[in-house]
Amino acid sequence: VIFIVGLGPGGEDEITPRAVQALEASDIIVGYKTYVDLLVSRLGHKKLIPFAMKQEIERCRQAAALALAGNNVALVSGGDAGVYGMAGPMLEVLDALEGNTKDLEVEIVPGVTSACSAAAILGAPLTHDFAVISLSDLLTPWTLIEKRLALAAEADFVICLYNPASRNRRDYLRRACEIIMNLRDGNTPSGWVRNAGRKGQAHKILPLSELKNEELDMLCTVVIGNSETKILRGRMVTPRGYKVEGSTP
Ligand code: SAH
Repeated sequence: VIFIVGLGPGGEDEITPRAVQALEASDIIVGYKTYVDLLVSRLGHKKLIPFAMKQEIERCRQAAALALAGNNVALVSGGDAGVYGMAGPMLEVLDALEGNTKDLEVEIVPGVTSACSAAAILGAPLTHDFAVISLSDLLTPWTLIEKRLALAAEADFVICLYNPASRNRRDYLRRACEIIMNLRDGNTPSGWVRNAGRKGQAHKILPLSELKNEELDMLCTVVIGNSETKILRGRMVTPRGYKVEGSTP
């Protein structure tokens, strides 16, 4: 069996029981070093195979080979394994492999994606329609990213940004905010969360016009409200549309 497992944001208490079961049923666990390291204390008795960044396809091939040799293998991603994670590449690699991969059982185990873990820290910004956009242009042309930002802003989606910045892409967040601000007020409540559910967790709520100047990194998820999003009790809230009247408890 190959399990493709989302681990959630990183906290030991934020992984689902089903994901833990899949890891316990596995002989070998394959994944990014940071994620695999998080598992060591819990699953030290398993064979853990860490991978460096940018070796996704190689990692999938190795996982497939190990599974074909009769091992139960877990391929792990942070958050959800299907959201910018390993589920898609693994299925593509299996499809491309010749031979007896058809008999391999593949089970995909969902996890809490960063949009959800970040939103819970910021308040309730995703209570209405939202769009998730990655600012990473490693595999996606920047022109397409710009188009998606502009159209999501025009359609008044709450916008959640993954991969908001990296060493080589310091000004991407600023550029993204500028595109959105062409169509959305600079006072729109926005926020970022760094290391949700992990050591070093931090967050900030601020207007869109100020978000643009924040120095963020790959460990951050950004949420930009829609035209209705407001700040209540210091937290972002996007109204669903219910009529809420004051009452005495
Ligand atoms: N599969 C992952 C996303 C992988 S893309 C998921 O479902 O969450 C990597 C991006 O996810 C990072 O650049 C960041 O934007 C976000 N991310 C991952 N872990 C995070 C965490 N603990 N806190 C905040 N953002 C995180």
